[in-house]
Amino acid sequence: MTYFAIVNKSRAQLATMLQGAGQQGGRRPVIAIALLLCAGLALGAGIGIADNALLRAKVQSQQTQLDLARRDAQREVNALAARLGELQAEANRLNALGERLTRIGQLQDGEFDFNKPVGVGGAGPVRDMSKAELDSGLATLDAQFKASGDQLSVLEALLFNRQLDMNAVPSREPIANSYITSGFGGRADPIVGGKQFHKGIDFEADVGDPVLAVADGVVSYSGVRSGYGNVIEIDHGNGYVTRYAHNSRLTRKVGELVRAGQEVAKAGSTGRSTGAHVHFEVWERGRVVNPRNFLSQQSPLQLKIKG
Ligand SMILES: [Zn+2]
Repeated sequence: MTYFAIVNKSRAQLATMLQGAGQQGGRRPVIAIALLLCAGLALGAGIGIADNALLRAKVQSQQTQLDLARRDAQREVNALAARLGELQAEANRLNALGERLTRIGQLQDGEFDFNKPVGVGGAGPVRDMSKAELDSGLATLDAQFKASGDQLSVLEALLFNRQLDMNAVPSREPIANSYITSGFGGRADPIVGGKQFHKGIDFEADVGDPVLAVADGVVSYSGVRSGYGNVIEIDHGNGYVTRYAHNSRLTRKVGELVRAGQEVAKAGSTGRSTGAHVHFEVWERGRVVNPRNFLSQQSPLQLKIKG
């Protein structure tokens, strides 16, 4: 075989092979492409379905969260509404208190309006309350509290002034649980006999018993006075001065502020005295007066409460 013969044979074989391949390959690409397309479509559809499901799940979860948040918010609104109810009940009590104080203090009606109705309090809301309702309820309550607060402030100032006036009048007894042993005015002198003007009232006391200020004031004298022994004098600032004599000990100094009912001395029998007692005098604008005129005075507030 020649070289050319070998080459030609090979060529022919190659041609046959190529032809065969060409014939077969002519059908296969169609199948391949179809398969590829199917696979692609399937994949595409698969991806599409998966995407859709994911999106739906996402929306569902967001919806759930939204519902939860909404329910939480409503729960908070309802809790606030319940609190609002409590505060309204509180406002009711405050108004009732103001009304009672006004009545006790016999204050002019009209100036104080404690009867103004406030919203119903007590049990929480039976239905969901809207935020707008809650806001308006709170605003109303706020105004009510402010009004009540203003009224009570005025009331307090009035009662305080009245209390000051009352406390500045020597209307209490200078010793607790005692009784009068000697009254004001002419009487027989207990030491030397004969007629004598008794400038005060004597109260029975034991040595060391607390002697009490009969009204608010400032200690204007604390020391020994002839006949009176250890004496305390209180200036009440409204023309009244009270004097507490024969004490065993003085517990206040000049210039000290004392309140009605506070101790100013210990009872005793110093000075011109036959035994332990409290000698009590009231001076009105420099003139000695009968303390009984004041001792019988009762607080108008107390009288009202009792009545
Ligand atoms: Zn006396």
